Amino acid sequence: MPNWVTHRCTVLAGDCPFRDQGEALDFNRIVPMPEELKIDEILPYHLEERVVKAASTEDPEAAIETESLQEEERAIAFRLLGNLRRFGYASWYSWSCAHWGTQWNACGTPCERDSESVFHFVTAWATPEPLFQAIATKYSNLIAMVEYADQILGQSVGIYRLDEGNLTHEDLTGTVEGRDLAYELNQVTPFWCARCDDRREAIENDPWACNVCGGQLA
Ligand SMILES: [Zn+2]
Repeated sequence: MPNWVTHRCTVLAGDCPFRDQGEALDFNRIVPMPEELKIDEILPYHLEERVVKAASTEDPEAAIETESLQEEERAIAFRLLGNLRRFGYASWYSWSCAHWGTQWNACGTPCERDSESVFHFVTAWATPEPLFQAIATKYSNLIAMVEYADQILGQSVGIYRLDEGNLTHEDLTGTVEGRDLAYELNQVTPFWCARCDDRREAIENDPWACNVCGGQLA
């Protein structure tokens, strides 16, 4: 299971791409992935390293021929090499990390927390900053705020502001504000620990024990 990053997009004015035909935002509608990169037969990122290395040699084709590969893998390796030359990226994986900032498209369907102007979606492992930059550029009348937090509370948390073509990114990692935003987006209810003198979560097998000091939560 990836570490999911929840995004809450609040649209204040302008045209909004965040809900797309009743589903989560499709990143391909903002920055489309070339069809040729969608090679799913194997996990191409294992092969990709070898192809990138071969491409840096004088004769990449010969280098791929000498790799110890199954016949099917070799055919895919040559497709990856073609993609690398044409698009600068061999596979969907490296391309999407570079162009979207996360390896997969957005996930999630409209949820009970959504409304006319508030939309949620999740991404795997990382928040897609390059994509928000592309949205700001493409939707030049959009004014919106996107708050995000991952599941490891407070590790990756922040706010984007899209304002008529401009994007700003406020990183709240390690701040109290960021931690509270992470609680909210992940729908975690923290309790008060008198010993820590702070809001804490409970440990897994005791809903009233502080996960930092073990003290009683109230
Ligand atoms: Zn405590």
